[in-house]
Amino acid sequence: MSALRLILADQLSHSISSLQALEKSNDTVLFCEVMEEATYVPHHPKKIAFLFSAMRHFAAELEAQGIQVRYIKLDAPQNTGSFTSEVARAINALNPSRVIVTEPGEYRVLETFKGWQALLGIPVEIRQDTRFLANREEFAAWAKGKKQLRMEFFYREMRKKYSILIEADQKPTGGEWNYDKENRKPPKSGMTSPARISHKKSAITKEVLALVKNCFSHHFGKLEPFHYAVTRDQAIEELEHFITHLLPNFGDYQDAMVAGEAYLYHSLISSYLNAGLLLPLEICQLAETAYRAHRAPLNAVEGFIRQILGWREYIRGIYWHLMPEYGTRNTLEATRPLPDFYWTAETHMFCIAETIRHTREHAYSHHIQRLMITGNFALLAGLDVKQVQNWYLAVYSDAYEWVEMPNTLGMALFGDDGVVASKPYAASGKYIHRMSNYCGKCQYDPNEMTGEKACPFNALYWDFLVRHEDKFRGNQRMPYVFSTWDKFAPEKQTAIRAQALKIIERMTNGHL
Ligand SMILES: Cc1cc2nc3c(=O)[nH]c(=O)nc-3n(C[C@H](O)[C@H](O)[C@H](O)COP(=O)(O)OP(=O)(O)OC[C@H]3O[C@@H](n4cnc5c(N)ncnc54)[C@H](O)[C@@H]3O)c2cc1C
Ligand code: SF4
Repeated sequence: MSALRLILADQLSHSISSLQALEKSNDTVLFCEVMEEATYVPHHPKKIAFLFSAMRHFAAELEAQGIQVRYIKLDAPQNTGSFTSEVARAINALNPSRVIVTEPGEYRVLETFKGWQALLGIPVEIRQDTRFLANREEFAAWAKGKKQLRMEFFYREMRKKYSILIEADQKPTGGEWNYDKENRKPPKSGMTSPARISHKKSAITKEVLALVKNCFSHHFGKLEPFHYAVTRDQAIEELEHFITHLLPNFGDYQDAMVAGEAYLYHSLISSYLNAGLLLPLEICQLAETAYRAHRAPLNAVEGFIRQILGWREYIRGIYWHLMPEYGTRNTLEATRPLPDFYWTAETHMFCIAETIRHTREHAYSHHIQRLMITGNFALLAGLDVKQVQNWYLAVYSDAYEWVEMPNTLGMALFGDDGVVASKPYAASGKYIHRMSNYCGKCQYDPNEMTGEKACPFNALYWDFLVRHEDKFRGNQRMPYVFSTWDKFAPEKQTAIRAQALKIIERMTNGHL
């Protein structure tokens, strides 16, 4: 029985279920670089280059093990441009008796795969993606009957399941489940972060860069310099570098933002983890080992592990549990068009311009920039949830719908009616001023509410809350917000709302 085994760009793990029980003499592994996937949103050129190069390296590793590989490059003359047509072409050429694939990370693609058996007239086996630490059934069982699906409680279950930072008496290490209150330090003056690893470009990467330059240079984002890891060995090198040199400070400065510093103490592993070059459990275990060996403090290690064992798995659980209905939500009816400055960085708001510059340069910005700068602005200004999601999906090298959507629609935009976030992550300029050194470089003043110089986040913040008063006034996690608003004199309230209108007008006219 010969099998055609399809590997997608984010399935680059030797332990992936679709490669299990492979018969070298009978089976062929198919990789295809298809235009349909590379362009359904205008992906950042670095993201495309990373994925194509990593796919080509992974395919070469399989070939070196004596496995038969059929690799269809993007510019191969016969390339038909979609998964379905490429699988059909491979079936014609190789005449396999079945197709094997691991479930994809996106609902849309899974639906396509489900239709293949009938369409292509061949048995198609869709295997579970066992690289995640909670499978879909397990998450559904956890969610069943719960009024609220809070990450924190899911995370505790995961800690126990994998015995990560759990002591012999089954209590959490250090006595607490969560050390976040120690993790919100603003940046120190003059703070920079240690240098990062830059990987030498292989011949494969150079060929891919030339291809991407030729085909995708009209997409948002700079292709070069290109320094991404493209193999598992290189990704491990980056992970080890992070654990040794950056993890000790990860917790303290997790929320800090510094002009000119895109990475600070963040790990930069999401692209490698999401593509399969790294696996979540090995990362958590390596971080725990660093704590046990006194090489990193508990607040940093717990905070880092929570992102992976907690947030990442929880976000994926939410996506599969609630799709496809989840993708249609827009609770706050946010429909304003995405302003051009999300693509051009041409705005006087330094915090936004800086985040977009980092994104353009690296296909990366860290969590607080995504959530509290570009996400916060989109929330406050009522930007169209679909346009905002498509932007996040296009511009980050770690973006796939299963992880981007609940983070954007749910966490940043409160568009899922509070499934992911128990209150909106809405903040005025004061928060950004406290957590960054951006405001000192900005033409706006975070301490002003109205007038030409006033920070746009301030009036937009109040206007947002008042616009959605019905929804948020009763929220138990926002006890003081509305009482502060109520204490403002009526003239002040009117002036703030008029200022918010002016800001939206300036945004629409391209003058913000
Ligand atoms: C609006 C918005 C959109 C986002 N889109 C994506 C996305 O498309 N892809 C993506 O991987 N992450 C996304 N995130 C989550 C998070 O911002 C990134 O995982 C993180 O910035 C990646 O950088 P890092 O590897 O340096 O992470 P670190 O800060 O070093 O964190 C370590 C790891 O934890 C995981 N992690 C942390 N937070 C989350 C989270 N909220 N959800 C899932 N995993 C998490 C990631 O794998 C990350 O690599 C988004 C967050 C927001 C607010
Ligand atoms: S003043 Fe306002 S717009 Fe300017 S950087 Fe600070 S928060 Fe951003």
